[in-house]
Amino acid sequence: MSQSQLELYLDCPFKYACEKILRLGDSSPAEFSYAGIGTYVHAILERYLKEIYTVRGGVYPPEQDNRALLASVSESVIDEIAPPGTPSRTGLVSHLSERLRLLAAVISDDVSKEIRGSDFLPEHFELEIGPGKFPPISFPLSDGGSVSFIGKVDRIDVCRRDGVAYIKAVDYKTGSKEFRVSDIADGKNLQLLLYMLSLTKDGNSSFFGGKPKEAAFEYLSCNAERLKELPETEAEAVNKASETLSRSGIVVEGNECRLSGNNENRYLMKTSKSSSTVTEEEFKEFKDTVSGIITDTAEKMKSGYAAARPSNGSDSCRYCSYSGICRSSVKYDGINETED
Ligand code: SF4
Repeated sequence: MSQSQLELYLDCPFKYACEKILRLGDSSPAEFSYAGIGTYVHAILERYLKEIYTVRGGVYPPEQDNRALLASVSESVIDEIAPPGTPSRTGLVSHLSERLRLLAAVISDDVSKEIRGSDFLPEHFELEIGPGKFPPISFPLSDGGSVSFIGKVDRIDVCRRDGVAYIKAVDYKTGSKEFRVSDIADGKNLQLLLYMLSLTKDGNSSFFGGKPKEAAFEYLSCNAERLKELPETEAEAVNKASETLSRSGIVVEGNECRLSGNNENRYLMKTSKSSSTVTEEEFKEFKDTVSGIITDTAEKMKSGYAAARPSNGSDSCRYCSYSGICRSSVKYDGINETED
């Protein structure tokens, strides 16, 4: 099971069945829209930091070379998202590319400052968890079967102390939504918690160079909605970047590893007590909660339960592509909702 399958099923089992079982998906062609700008920023972060920390051993090049490196990474990402000669390339991208490069430079600098002020180093990028890859944790089901949670961790930062490899997992998100602790009970944004269960399993010490233990997880969000007017100048880009990026997640107490420099209060992931800091015991309770959600959801899926029951009412139904075929009987903001 993946996070997208889990969230879709919890949103509405009928919607899940239409999309994942019957594969009645939206076939409209992908475009480089403003939403694509978030994807672009995330791809830049992925490739730039990978280059710095896996190819260059964590040594940042001089400023001029660094700008050239970012420009080259930016160009390759734009070529992939909007290949030359395609309508999306000649449309939005053609007049945005220079400002996109500027924004990417400022955002990369922002994230680099967070990393350089911490005791954690990025060591793994886009780590795939699943059969034949990094082994996923498996949850037993009541019928004797099991379910695994698969996916890809965007970035894993590690800090080693006394034989323990403290893990900080990072997920790049597009959009304005931030992680809230209350999401856990709702089954939302569970991927980093579930990845952490796989990463910190017994038997992974040789992979991480120490017994893996959770230290933090961070959702780094790029809100493309705020990019409708891209910055023209570097000064504007600096302001825009801080408006565009947000960090949310959980810090687990019980280690001495700094998650950011002492004076970098704008970063959520700092070692001081914050609303997102939890004890090891609280974190264990979160893990038990998500294990239960995965097991319950997998058992419902296996039973074939696919009722049109939106968990968020109008929010679930408003943009649903399957409202015309779900045969719901209760009108809800002009869209039908099933009574059961
Ligand atoms: S319109 Fe609502 S009830 Fe119908 S399939 Fe979509 S989310 Fe489910």
